Amino acid sequence: MKVSGTFDVVVSGGGPSGAAMAWALASRGIAVAVIERAEFPREKVCGDFVEPAGLRIIHRMGAAEALGLESRTAIDKVRAYYGPHIAYQNDVAYYGGEAGMPPHGHIIPRHDLDTALLENAVRAGAKVFQGTRVTEVRREKGLMHITTKNASGEGELVAPVVVGADGVQSVVAQHAGLRRDDKRHIGISQRVYLEGIEMDESEACIWFDEDHYPGYGWVFPAGNGMANAGMGMLSETTDKFDISLQQCFRESIERLKYRHPGCANATMSSKPLGGAVHMYGGITRNHFAGGILVGDAGGFVDPMTAEGITQGMESSIIGARTIADALEKGSFEEADFARFEHDFRAYFDYAMLYLSFYATMMRNRHFGDFFLSMTRQGFERAQHDREFARVSGTGFGGLNVQPAAIAAQLWSGIARHIATGGGAVLRDLMAGRGLPRDGFVGDWNLWQRGWRDSVRSDPAWHMAWLADIVRAVSKLGPSFASDQNPRVNGPFEQGTGL
Ligand SMILES: Cc1cc2nc3c(=O)[nH]c(=O)nc-3n(C[C@H](O)[C@H](O)[C@H](O)COP(=O)(O)OP(=O)(O)OC[C@H]3O[C@@H](n4cnc5c(N)ncnc54)[C@H](O)[C@@H]3O)c2cc1C
Repeated sequence: MKVSGTFDVVVSGGGPSGAAMAWALASRGIAVAVIERAEFPREKVCGDFVEPAGLRIIHRMGAAEALGLESRTAIDKVRAYYGPHIAYQNDVAYYGGEAGMPPHGHIIPRHDLDTALLENAVRAGAKVFQGTRVTEVRREKGLMHITTKNASGEGELVAPVVVGADGVQSVVAQHAGLRRDDKRHIGISQRVYLEGIEMDESEACIWFDEDHYPGYGWVFPAGNGMANAGMGMLSETTDKFDISLQQCFRESIERLKYRHPGCANATMSSKPLGGAVHMYGGITRNHFAGGILVGDAGGFVDPMTAEGITQGMESSIIGARTIADALEKGSFEEADFARFEHDFRAYFDYAMLYLSFYATMMRNRHFGDFFLSMTRQGFERAQHDREFARVSGTGFGGLNVQPAAIAAQLWSGIARHIATGGGAVLRDLMAGRGLPRDGFVGDWNLWQRGWRDSVRSDPAWHMAWLADIVRAVSKLGPSFASDQNPRVNGPFEQGTGL
């Protein structure tokens, strides 16, 4: 059947962002259609990890039961490898169960998750057309015309509002001239399903390797001896240093067998697949005359972890309010959708711009040894200092990120490092052993070497990177303006009226 008709809102894409948007609109009695090019259940390249904030939204939308969340294994522990060395193996210290969030995450394969969320939107009253692509979007006389294509041929939907929830290759973003291609903010990754796994099913595992910097790998237990494993890097780095992500990925999976005893007999049970994410650091305008962009189409992914399922749903729940207001006013000009930018920034900037500042600093591959040494020491400290793990650990996990508290902990750590390092220098010099090579002096040497190599190899890029850091710092005002991270209470507490 060709897909044609008239709605209040047409959502392009039925992933977590599109489904949450459709649910939020339909729950308000708005006539909404979702156009999804795949037939669900479909595969989506992902780590399948849903953090506590995402689970809270799923509960609130009423989809927890359909997903059988109660019977899924809770992930509340993590193991972090630096090369072959375990730097951290403990609980996720910042999963405190606050503000209605469960104290754990879940691995939910995307064919289950996305299918259940879309069915949930249908139950709320949304009309979903699967196996149908949006091929073109245009605006005529104040209305959006959305061309659709499926096996039966071309159709046309007409609505005052269109939402781009169609992922990184968004057709809607393309129409609006807002498709992003800045490789400084694009993560690329490969993932595969493994079988023959014998790991603690409540423990996620991540790893960092110097040849895969900046980036990280993961293996997430999926039950029944299966796991989701993958690795991601920054697109800018793989381009600039001519790195093959596929090769890094193959090496990572081989190393995993030696590195993690539970993966010694792992074999691939699916074809490795690649994917990309657009991270929040590159976010710009996400609204236009006649609509908005949410989820990956809008660049809402966490700049440190590259998680985007929760952020996509959050952006939709926030954006639905702007759309409801525009429909109520009956006005659909660009200015009517500008509220979305105000609202999503009020919600996300606090944590995301801070994480983006770290991601910007860590972008420079020449400083890989330095940052790996620093973060490894951070994990090691977190292993026995639970308050440090609870506060500073969020810089890696993206939940209740508290920039001022993290900065205070890091600076006191650095001061201690310098003081004990200075003591060691004096002691070794006085004992005639010369300068020590590790500890503070070692880190200082790594920093100097990184700086020298970066300047020598590409001075122009080095200067541009420094300018990016200055820009990132200049945006940190909201992150330090208060100690209340708006994301902690979730999007429903932002006056969304749901
Ligand atoms: C390898 C990898 C691992 C990841 N791991 C995690 C993780 O563990 N946890 C996490 O939170 N995030 C993770 N992410 C990020 C996460 O996958 C995305 O942020 C999330 O899927 C965004 O949801 P979305 O609904 O915005 O987009 P998508 O999930 O991409 O959904 C977009 C939908 O739009 C449809 N579509 C596209 N074009 C059209 C069109 N023209 N017409 C109609 N339909 C269209 C697609 O078929 C798709 O169903 C990972 C990403 C990658 C690449």
